[in-house]
Amino acid sequence: MNVSAEAVLETRNGRVVLIVSIVGARPEFVQIAVLSRTLRAQHDEILIHTGQHDDARMSDRFFSELDIPQPDIALGVTALEPSARFAEMVAGLATAIDPLDPDLVIVRGDTTSTLAGALVAKQRLLPLVHIEAGMRSYDRTMPEELNRIVVDRIADLALVTDDAARERLAREGISQGVHVCGDVMYDLFIRATGTARAALREPLATLVREPYDLLTIHRAENIDDRERLASLVAGFAQGPRRVIFPVHPRTAGRLAEFAIALPPCVSALEPVGYREMLALESGARAIFTDSGGVQREAYFAGVPCVTLRDTTEWTNTVDVGWNRLVGARTTEIASALASDMPRPAARPPLFGEGDAAARILAVLESTETAELVARSRAMRRRRSR
Ligand code: UDP
Repeated sequence: MNVSAEAVLETRNGRVVLIVSIVGARPEFVQIAVLSRTLRAQHDEILIHTGQHDDARMSDRFFSELDIPQPDIALGVTALEPSARFAEMVAGLATAIDPLDPDLVIVRGDTTSTLAGALVAKQRLLPLVHIEAGMRSYDRTMPEELNRIVVDRIADLALVTDDAARERLAREGISQGVHVCGDVMYDLFIRATGTARAALREPLATLVREPYDLLTIHRAENIDDRERLASLVAGFAQGPRRVIFPVHPRTAGRLAEFAIALPPCVSALEPVGYREMLALESGARAIFTDSGGVQREAYFAGVPCVTLRDTTEWTNTVDVGWNRLVGARTTEIASALASDMPRPAARPPLFGEGDAAARILAVLESTETAELVARSRAMRRRRSR
């Protein structure tokens, strides 16, 4: 270890290591809930919310329900066109981060906020940590896939959920700074699942008394194409049981714009809170979704999942028989609804032991990270001379 890395470790004990965490969308709020508390017990964290999701149903409610510290800086992006929105995030993040001069920047997953935060961090020579690294759908028409590929290439520390993600990165030539830590979403799931049922309010409490399937759709590939969205919805027209559908605001907008009516067996709801969602997931016969987070939560809860996509990043859940891909094919959706869903006897621990946040903290407190922080400080000092 060099002298300045030792100094970083020492100052860290004095709690002066400053971490900037960047979030913007619903899955990121769920991902930081346990992690933020874990980091703040030892270090200083500044939370920046880009405003990618600013609707109270998609953002504020998660901060209060999951007791997440309020964002220290809220950028409140306003542009609607995706490239303009991205540009606004980059500019806003640069202005926010420069005076902070943090030691580490953390981004997670694959959102526009993740990409914007990663670029700004690396332009400023700041050490970049990518949580949930190494996921791939191998479908470059997905904006999320582009975001992940770029962020993985420029991150200094790629913290992956499992060995398969580590191997995926190795095949792309990324092996330095890669650590298997488990899934922070599982950390939160095991802490919250016991109180989920009690969170159900009316009309949900009544709705869940009869058998149901659960549905979520929000990926651009499914909702921005009228034909594909109509084909998906048609799959749910025949029953045989009720389908509970908390509707993402973008999906609601598209259904209205394309004049696609939901079949009577589908109960459409406003987006629900995190614990309500866990209760809906655990009580469902099966979960139909295009969400990355919901595919994993189905597995955590031991509920069969039918993924409304042609590819998935979470192939491990498919390999063990708990998830199957049906795309937007009407007949395959209808037959999955009508059939008995397999519940394999085994559900191996694919996502860690619920200690991902602690493992991430251990990586951030390692000598490797101290050296990274020290090198970055030295480079920034040289540049500013
Ligand atoms: N979720 C929620 N309420 C809803 C729908 C989803 O709390 O009405 C939660 C879900 O339980 C999971 C997260 O939101 O924890 C997943 O986010 P989303 O599906 O928006 O994004 P993705 O995981 O596909 O990136």
